[in-house]
Amino acid sequence: MTRQKNISILGATGSIGDSTLSVIRQHPDRFRIVSLTCHRSVEKLCELIHEFRPEKVSVHSTSEARHVREAFPELEVFSGKEGLINIAEDPDAQIVVAGIVGSAGLFPTFSAVSSGKNVALANKEPLVMAGRLFIEEASKSGAKILPTDSEHNAIFQVLNGRTQDKIRKLVLTASGGPFRDLPLEQFPHIRLEDALSHPNWEMGNKITIDSATMMNKGLEVIEARWLFDMPVEKIEVVIHRESIIHSMVEFCDGSTLAQLGFPDMRIPISYCLGWPERLELELPNLDLTKIGSLNFTSVEPTRYPCLELAIDAARMDRSVPAVLNGANEAVVESYLKGHLHFVEIAKLLQDVMSGYQSISQKPDCPSYLRDIQTLEDAVKADQWGREEAQQRMQERVAA
Ligand code: NAD
Ligand code: MG
Repeated sequence: MTRQKNISILGATGSIGDSTLSVIRQHPDRFRIVSLTCHRSVEKLCELIHEFRPEKVSVHSTSEARHVREAFPELEVFSGKEGLINIAEDPDAQIVVAGIVGSAGLFPTFSAVSSGKNVALANKEPLVMAGRLFIEEASKSGAKILPTDSEHNAIFQVLNGRTQDKIRKLVLTASGGPFRDLPLEQFPHIRLEDALSHPNWEMGNKITIDSATMMNKGLEVIEARWLFDMPVEKIEVVIHRESIIHSMVEFCDGSTLAQLGFPDMRIPISYCLGWPERLELELPNLDLTKIGSLNFTSVEPTRYPCLELAIDAARMDRSVPAVLNGANEAVVESYLKGHLHFVEIAKLLQDVMSGYQSISQKPDCPSYLRDIQTLEDAVKADQWGREEAQQRMQERVAA
């Protein structure tokens, strides 16, 4: 029998956490949960502790930690940023699933990489903020970063260790989100609940909004640039409304290889958990005769200005992706609270990027806005983008 693999899940109560636990429930003989984290959904975490009996957990605050300790006296319970890092470095875990949303995952995900583990990476924002540092750290520590985002996982499956110099381009597919067919003149009437209803995938709120603006695909271009050491010019995005082909690789001889499957995150997650083996998954068969046709169209730039912003940031590289990421997180958070209109998301981000252009040309521009040398630089650049966006949102309220 194959030895059980010990798993830690950062962000166990979210959508990636749910899909990971669903795969693990199908393979109790192969996987053991050793540690879990959550932010505020402590009741859900308690249910998971009851079911999976981990040895360690981490929650947001000390008072929440006390509550969990009272319910499970035998458990080691941590809290705050140090708690997340304790779990990420847990010596008992062989695989860490990075499923926290946003820049909050930066330090714990980096710690998992530094400690040389296999890291199933769904949390793309840290890679956007500090991709070079992650890749360098993984090569020092021997960590294996397993691409879990469905597009990157498709490419990972297709490449299967092939050398990168034979690749002509990577083609990332995108569903186009809920507004792919909406006439542009109706964009001012988009409601929050419309933006939150993705046609193909069930995901957390932040990535669902990023999918509606296609900022998500822009972040994924940056993610692909680092994971596959690919120049941005060789990464293409196409709209594929069925979300059956998860991405493609075109090779130097004109062959294109793709990975197909239902839009279900359990498929890429199980590939990462089982890697280098494939696991059995109880999912319906993919019957292409029922699907009938697969469609592909190019991206209309006027419909998805956020994608253009992110690709520009990818080209400019250095601190620009971190600035854009911070600004986007702040703007999306505000949008989710109902404080903004959908069309304002891109306008605010464009303004932040113009503000960045002017400060970056000044002689007294801080070094962290010129380049990312350390994780602290990435945090500061992200914070700069966040504050710049907040300022612009306040100006808008005052106007
Ligand atoms: P989610 O909002 O459903 O879950 C987020 C998890 O992170 C929760 O467990 C939450 O408790 C925890 N969390 C939130 N804020 C935190 C903080 N400040 N500190 C510590 N923990 C915190 O998000 P999700 O949809 O599961 O996405 C997670 C990550 O995976 C994102 O980076 C997203 O882009 C990426 N991803 C998700 C999907 C998907 O299908 N959901 C697909 C591809 C990539
Ligand atoms: Mg994706």
